[in-house]
Amino acid sequence: MSYDANTFQNLISHAKEYGYIFQSSEIYDGLAAVYDYGQNGAQLKKNIRDAWWKTMTQLNDNIVGIDAAIFMHPTTWKASGHVDNFSDPMIDNKDSQKRYRVDHLIEAHAERLEAEGQKLKAEELISDMEKLLAADDLAGVKQLIVDNNMKCSVSGTCNWTDVRQFNLMFSTELGSVADEASTIYLRPETAQGIFVNFLNVQKTGRMKIPFGIAQTGKAFRNEIVARQFIFRMREFEQMEMQFFIRPGSQKEWYAHWKEERLKWHKEVMGFPAERLQYHDHVKLAHYADAAVDVEFNFPFGWKELEGIHSRTDYDLGRHQEFSKKKQQYFDTEINQNYVPYVIETSVGLDRLVLATLSNAYAEEKWTKEDGSEDSRVVLKIPANLAPTKLAVLPLTKKDGLPEIARDLINDCKSSFHCFYEEKDSIGKRYRRMDAIGTPFAVTVDHQTKEDNTVTIRYRDTMTQERIHLNAVKAKVLAAVTK
Ligand code: ATP
Repeated sequence: MSYDANTFQNLISHAKEYGYIFQSSEIYDGLAAVYDYGQNGAQLKKNIRDAWWKTMTQLNDNIVGIDAAIFMHPTTWKASGHVDNFSDPMIDNKDSQKRYRVDHLIEAHAERLEAEGQKLKAEELISDMEKLLAADDLAGVKQLIVDNNMKCSVSGTCNWTDVRQFNLMFSTELGSVADEASTIYLRPETAQGIFVNFLNVQKTGRMKIPFGIAQTGKAFRNEIVARQFIFRMREFEQMEMQFFIRPGSQKEWYAHWKEERLKWHKEVMGFPAERLQYHDHVKLAHYADAAVDVEFNFPFGWKELEGIHSRTDYDLGRHQEFSKKKQQYFDTEINQNYVPYVIETSVGLDRLVLATLSNAYAEEKWTKEDGSEDSRVVLKIPANLAPTKLAVLPLTKKDGLPEIARDLINDCKSSFHCFYEEKDSIGKRYRRMDAIGTPFAVTVDHQTKEDNTVTIRYRDTMTQERIHLNAVKAKVLAAVTK
């Protein structure tokens, strides 16, 4: 469906109303850009995480998974470059006190120019910004903002501070005695937990290059411009995989993972091809020799979902330098010792949840046979990812129907999530299941007692058919297993 700002707001309200996503600490008026997952959101998120984990660690026999700690030795972040470089250039408007990421401020201005038909000017502006940022010329960036008369959206003025770099890592103190305590960071990415364990895993798992290490877990960034619901959060979850390879083979493996990851978004996540695109990085980080984003067409436009990066031997090389411990691999096939090169795939789990909800959410209206209007809100989440797979609904609370329904659930629940409900009319119960995205609903009625058949209803088409009670489990299982 096509989106407007209202539909996106409706989606956010829907996610709250049906137990998907709540504002964190809502009773205290919330905490900006921090969210909690409710009963359905947590299950959806787990299903996506499990699907990724299965693809990486089960379907690839040369990839293993680990679970590294959130806290790491502070030198890790010196070596990785985060202490010195993990920052965004910011500017504040002195009148409104509103803080902007300069690239966002300038991009928004360029978008306005383009909308006014000044395409060339907009392109020139972006290109100037990129050059100035690449040269770390913060005074030049400020001048660009001033020269183009960019205004704060709150105060409407051009009264700007200087541009400053703002480090995105959260820090805290390790140890309780003030003078002995040392600064420690909440990890801003999961990748470094993989790099520092490269040799542990390679040796204990007797891994041979090429091989990968996968990990899922929380990451923390003090994002200044935190907006667009769970798209940009301060606490979020990443799913990363570092693939260790022989130097010189990076082009081939980069192409491999670029293709594999796009395929995964289509086949496992069920995203339509027209909502996905590659976006090649023009400006590369100093350590990268190629980088591409997989972008998703969110309700607010094309944005990054996943990054695929060819990181050379930068990370392992830096850890070798800072730890003074060799991070090398002896390749018996070519009789050589080397620091492996790395291809990284890095996807945000919360962004996958948002993409799934955006793709699934539909407000539908139609005219019934008798001429009256009907409508529903439905989450068409693919069956393999939906939090609940099967609803079992006895037509009435008596005549032994609830017992038959309970027996069916008992038979199915070790295989997939089921939901039992006996309150309200069947029509209302179907609508609630549509709203939380349950792909199958089975109604047990009086005929079931006579011939052991039930009505199964399909969420997406709302069609119904009569099938044997014994056939329900296999039918649902076939649809939810991927
Ligand atoms: P962006 O340009 O959107 O800030 P990034 O390039 O900094 O993202 P990476 O450092 O490559 O992102 O992180 C890998 C993935 O982690 C991203 O593709 C995204 O899915 C996810 N991610 C990064 N920052 C956030 C955030 N603040 N909230 C939610 N997910 C995030």
